[in-house]
Amino acid sequence: MSALPITVNGQLFTPQRIFFIGKNYDEHIKELGGTAPEEPVVFMKPVCSIVSPGEPISIPQHGKLLHHEVEVVLLIGKEGQGVPEVDALSYIAGITLGLDLTLRDIQSRLKKTGLPWELSKSFEQSAPLGHFKAYDSNSIDLENLPFSCSVNGDLRQQGNTRYMLFPIRNLIHRLSGWWRLRPGDIIFTGTPSGVGQLNSGDQVDIESPVTGRFSWPLSS
Ligand code: ZN
Repeated sequence: MSALPITVNGQLFTPQRIFFIGKNYDEHIKELGGTAPEEPVVFMKPVCSIVSPGEPISIPQHGKLLHHEVEVVLLIGKEGQGVPEVDALSYIAGITLGLDLTLRDIQSRLKKTGLPWELSKSFEQSAPLGHFKAYDSNSIDLENLPFSCSVNGDLRQQGNTRYMLFPIRNLIHRLSGWWRLRPGDIIFTGTPSGVGQLNSGDQVDIESPVTGRFSWPLSS
């Protein structure tokens, strides 16, 4: 199944950008030796970096440490600017999980020198993305959603959205203060602790009770 366009509840979405939130879980900030931000850290990847479930992922050649970061991912369903927190969840059309693949050695170098993160974050195939499920606020609790990442069957990351520094309704509020949110916008909401290396031949699985499981093989 092709990743794009995205269909949720019979509605077609053609995403034009993917937002990513950095440093949104305390334990992950600690494992990288950073400090908690006062406002969300935001970066983007192009839509062409999406990889559908099951499609092999090639390890990029310009870095040494390819890390998995499992994240809860939102699909925005309607246009909004200056969205108040109390209305924020009504802007969500779909929910899934994804991997914010990161070349950690390159990112560390860029952080030290104060340079932009694109080489470490926005490379080819850097955004494996599960299939979206329609978001229904009556049956899905976005503020208490457990999710995990395993590599070759070994559990590596176990998270829950309840531990977000900036909860989902706050993220939508803040993002919509900086950008005009559009239908089809995708938001990766940050990774919990346990990030680690992927090698060629590995299989990475991400799952939650709400979305089910998505898997990718790593090729050379
Ligand atoms: Zn991330």
